[in-house]
Amino acid sequence: MEKTDTVENTVLWLQCASCTGCSVSVLNSVSPGIQNVLLDKTIPGSHISLRFHSTLMAGAGEAVIRQIESTAAKNQGGYILVVEGAIPAAGNNGNYGSIGEHNGSKVSMYERVISLGQNARVIIALGTCAAFGGIPAAEPNPTRSTGVDSILKKCEISTPLINIPGCPPHPDWFIGILVQILMSGLPGSLELDENKRPKAFYGQLIHENCPRRAYFDEGKFAKAYSEPGCLNELGCKGPITYADCPTRHWNNGVNWCIGSRSPCIGCVEPGFPDLVSPLNQKLTANILPNIASCGHPVTEPAPY
Ligand code: SF4
Ligand code: SF4
Repeated sequence: MEKTDTVENTVLWLQCASCTGCSVSVLNSVSPGIQNVLLDKTIPGSHISLRFHSTLMAGAGEAVIRQIESTAAKNQGGYILVVEGAIPAAGNNGNYGSIGEHNGSKVSMYERVISLGQNARVIIALGTCAAFGGIPAAEPNPTRSTGVDSILKKCEISTPLINIPGCPPHPDWFIGILVQILMSGLPGSLELDENKRPKAFYGQLIHENCPRRAYFDEGKFAKAYSEPGCLNELGCKGPITYADCPTRHWNNGVNWCIGSRSPCIGCVEPGFPDLVSPLNQKLTANILPNIASCGHPVTEPAPY
C-alpha cells in the first residue's frame, strides 16, 4: 500500500437542541467550498476526517452510533468535537434530547457532550446556542438548556473550548478557526476574548466599523427601516455586539444585516435573545445588565 504523509484530523459533530442552521451556514462556505474542506486536504498535508454528523451522514441507527463510540475510543485526546445547539440539562441528565442508545438505553445530549467532551483535543461550540444557550435557553426554558461552557464548568472538565457564536455563525469564523488549529495548534488564551471567542473575528464592535456610524455621530437617526440614518432608534444592538460583519459581510461578501437595512440584533452575544429583546427596542443600559457584567461596556448613546 502507498505510504501517505497526510495527517488525518478526526472530527465528531454533535447536533443537540438546534435548528441545523449552523450546519447549513457552514455548508454554504464559498472560499474554500465545503467539499474542499471535507474531501480534499484542508491545508497541505492535513485532512479533515468527519466521522459523525447526523445531517450529512448517509447512515443511521445503531451502526453510526457505534461509529461515534469507537472513533472516540481509538482517538482519545486527539479528536475535534464540534457541538451545535444548546444542551438540555433538565431532568435526569438532560432527558429532553438524546443521541442514540447504549446497551438499549437512551443516551442524552448532555451525556454525549460530557463523555465525548472530556476526551476531545478541543471542543468547538458552533453557534450561539452551543456557546451560550441561545434560543433554546430563552425564558421560560423548561428544558434548562444551556451552552457547552456551563456544562464543562459544572462537570469540572478542562478540555479547551472555543466558542464560535452567531445565529447562525459565519462560515469563515468556523473554517478560519479550524484551519488555525490544523496549521498552528490551539489558539492561546490571549487570542480569545473573555467569552472564549477568537478575537480575530469577534474583536471589534459592530458600531466601530459600521458604515452608518457618521449618522450616529451627527445625531441623524432613521425612524423607519427604509430611511437613511443610524438604526439606533429602531433597536440596533451594534453598540454592544462584537463581530466583524461590517467588514466581512455575508453570503460570500454580498451584504450584511445593517447593509440590508436591518438593525444588528446582537446574535453573537451571551444572553441572546432574552437580553436584547424586544429586538426592535432602542438599546438602553438597564435592559442589558448581564452583558455589562461580562465585561462589555454598555453606554447610553450620546445625547442627540
Ligand atoms: S447604532 Fe447600529 S446602525 Fe447606528 S452606527 Fe451603531 S451599529 Fe451602525
Ligand atoms: S450584524 Fe449583528 S445580527 Fe447580523 S450577523 Fe452580525 S452580529 Fe449577528
